[in-house]
Amino acid sequence: MTIRIFETDSHIKEFSANVLECSEENGIYKIVLDKTAFFPEGGGQPSDTGKIGDAKIYDVQIINEKIIHFADKPLKVGEEYSCALDWDKRFRRMQNHSGEHILSGLIHKHFGLDNVGFHLGEEEVTMDVSGMLNREQLIFIERLANEAIIKNAKFSVKFPKACELKCLEYRSKLDLTENVRIVDIEGYDSCACCAPHVKSAGEIGIIKILDFYKMRDGLRLVIKCGFDALADFEERYQSTRGVSDLLSAKQGEIVESVKKTLETVSDLKYKNRELKKRYISLKANLQSYEKEKTATFEEELDMKEIQVFADSLHKRLQGIRAVFSAVDNGFNFAICGEEDKLNAFFTRFKEQLNVRGGGRNGMVSGSVGEPKEKIEKLFEEIK
Ligand SMILES: [Zn+2]
Repeated sequence: MTIRIFETDSHIKEFSANVLECSEENGIYKIVLDKTAFFPEGGGQPSDTGKIGDAKIYDVQIINEKIIHFADKPLKVGEEYSCALDWDKRFRRMQNHSGEHILSGLIHKHFGLDNVGFHLGEEEVTMDVSGMLNREQLIFIERLANEAIIKNAKFSVKFPKACELKCLEYRSKLDLTENVRIVDIEGYDSCACCAPHVKSAGEIGIIKILDFYKMRDGLRLVIKCGFDALADFEERYQSTRGVSDLLSAKQGEIVESVKKTLETVSDLKYKNRELKKRYISLKANLQSYEKEKTATFEEELDMKEIQVFADSLHKRLQGIRAVFSAVDNGFNFAICGEEDKLNAFFTRFKEQLNVRGGGRNGMVSGSVGEPKEKIEKLFEEIK
């Protein structure tokens, strides 16, 4: 049986241990040690990684009550090796997990809700609670959680005896009566948990609730604690600074500045549409065609504008009137004409060019993936 150092001392980064077993399966080596500080995956927290001797440990799992270290190379049974955890990763996880316990303890105490889920991912840390809370209530809890950090509340671990356990009040109460590990936060929380935690709340540094949304019958909180919260702050700060520089606005005034910019964009879009309408109307009135069929080529007109243009031309001049506007790999188009003539023309048009589209009541529209010269030539040829 492996001695579980991680259960009683969460701050051991390096240790020596003897190899009890080493087996191989598909190039993966499974190592059992006489003692280990590597935390095996559990309770929403991923396993530790690190090194045993020269072997890289990339996963640790409890399988059939044995703690298995998954290694990239074999180790000699009976030999002692020096072992090292990827400490930075482990410490950041402890900051987040301990922060979650403080939040869950406070939510339970003040609102009677339970923690019903916890996920400590590399990118995101989430915790689920059994009921709804609003923004003000969460701000209140976040404030109290950070007070626990300022007070440097002590963390301790105990394994109460079965008789003690019966009368003990703690969260995540289990049916088990033996080997229940209780993580206690002085004045804040008591909870059954298998994972390593900080020694005192000061090590967490900061607890921040970033987001919250409804999840089944309760709420999911997205949180970041400690160094992860600091990195998150830096990322957001750089974004805010970038936006502030682009807008030439003070950081505290960027929301107002973005609002004004969006209003200006919306105003310009409206003016642009109005100008295009006038352009189309003028151009349609100026053109006089002797030909029965014409194709007009434009740029930067949207489908609605193309249709209005073709319709205006047809209303004035009758015949087959087509308007094309350049897009990637071809043109969008609308063609207006007397129903019978238009149908006959469009059938030929589709036969000879790479066309997608259709229509009725004297108008067809769509897109054509051909060069201008080829389209113009076809207008000359089709009788
Ligand atoms: Zn826990």
